[in-house]
Amino acid sequence: MTSSATVERLSVETEPRRVSILGATGSIGTSTFDLLDRNPGAYDVVALTANHSVEALAALALRHGAELAVIGDPDKFAELKDALSGSDVEAAAGEDAVAEAATRQADWIMAAISGAAGLRATFEAARQGTHLAFANKECLVSAGDVFMKVVAAAETILLPVDSEHSAGFQAIESSIPEAIERIVLTASGGPFRTWSPEQLASARPEDALKHPNWSMGRKITVDSATLMNKGLELIEAFHLFPVEKDQLGVIVHPQSIVHCLVEYSDGSVLAQLSSPDMRTPIAYSLAWPKRMWCPTERLDLEKLAQLTFEAPDETRFPALRIARAALETGGSATTILNAANEIAVGAFLEGRIGFVSIPALVESTLEAAAGGIGAQTASTLDDVLHIDSECRTLASGLLERFV
Ligand code: NAD
Ligand code: MG
Repeated sequence: MTSSATVERLSVETEPRRVSILGATGSIGTSTFDLLDRNPGAYDVVALTANHSVEALAALALRHGAELAVIGDPDKFAELKDALSGSDVEAAAGEDAVAEAATRQADWIMAAISGAAGLRATFEAARQGTHLAFANKECLVSAGDVFMKVVAAAETILLPVDSEHSAGFQAIESSIPEAIERIVLTASGGPFRTWSPEQLASARPEDALKHPNWSMGRKITVDSATLMNKGLELIEAFHLFPVEKDQLGVIVHPQSIVHCLVEYSDGSVLAQLSSPDMRTPIAYSLAWPKRMWCPTERLDLEKLAQLTFEAPDETRFPALRIARAALETGGSATTILNAANEIAVGAFLEGRIGFVSIPALVESTLEAAAGGIGAQTASTLDDVLHIDSECRTLASGLLERFV
């Protein structure tokens, strides 16, 4: 994955690393800034992006002396310009400008825009051939093969930020890929792990947004409640790791301490453990190939006393089964899965559909697309964006059946 020359260069690096953060105002963005703030002088901030939060974006850009701040919402350009007036920070707005921000030369780029909305920027970041801290999992779900070709062509160093994939990366890094038998991602089980089907049928957005272990953005928190998040992560793992689809597994681990297990042919299992705090995987990606001090709570196994594991229940949580089937089908199935899920989660958060309708709408969209848009194979980002957009229209049409 990495040449020894790169590792050598990084280990003697004395200049501040130039970093950009796409999705700077979100949950991952905020945790990234927490680490940057604790290491003054070690990083120069190049470009920052956000969608609507002008005030938060401008404050970050001013505090870190960023070169460029971009707001996705074009109507907020004047407000951003005002907030940055008198400073050297350049302002820009709109979808194209967000993607362009990712083309600014940087040594390390955090791709943390939520959803397929982050596709263009994440692709541009990958084209730089630098270090890409990868949080925008929907990019790999929606555009996996196309994206990985860009990564390979640019020789980008992809550093997974998703906690399970950072854990897997750490457990694999020094090993022989041929010796890997299985990679098992852990899932907390979400807030509804013990809920009955009747309770699930009346679960409200405010219930789904109460994750027991992790503090995250709204979309991924709902995905964790349906277990779709783990399905998306299986697809993400398939693209990131040197394994076949049937070598990937999921196990429910309510404490969220063990993040991933890599099983080897000699019977060894390597796992990474840490408190459920995203600053650990972000710090790993930020300091790689070294490690940096991180302020997260240290593990106290005596206090924890018990780490438990159980099989996921795919009857109560069909999203995992639906996602695995999409991975099996291949082609544009995972693009459809992602688009339909984003429509379904949005509708659930707006109170338009019930919790159990989320996987039902995703499955209906996959069925309706089969043979039509589902038969298309994407070979470019534009193809992916076309399929994504068609499937959003399809899912929005089907939504009425579930309202
Ligand atoms: P979030 O909702 O908290 O933040 C999303 C960020 O993206 C914000 O800065 C927002 O302004 C920006 N954004 C959203 N829509 C945009 C658009 N259309 N154009 C431009 N910018 C836009 O999300 P998050 O929880 O930080 O998650 C970010 C990504 O990281 C997601 O792909 C998620 O799956 C992944 N991830 C998050 C966590 C976590 O703990 N939060 C863990 C693992 C993976
Ligand atoms: Mg995860």
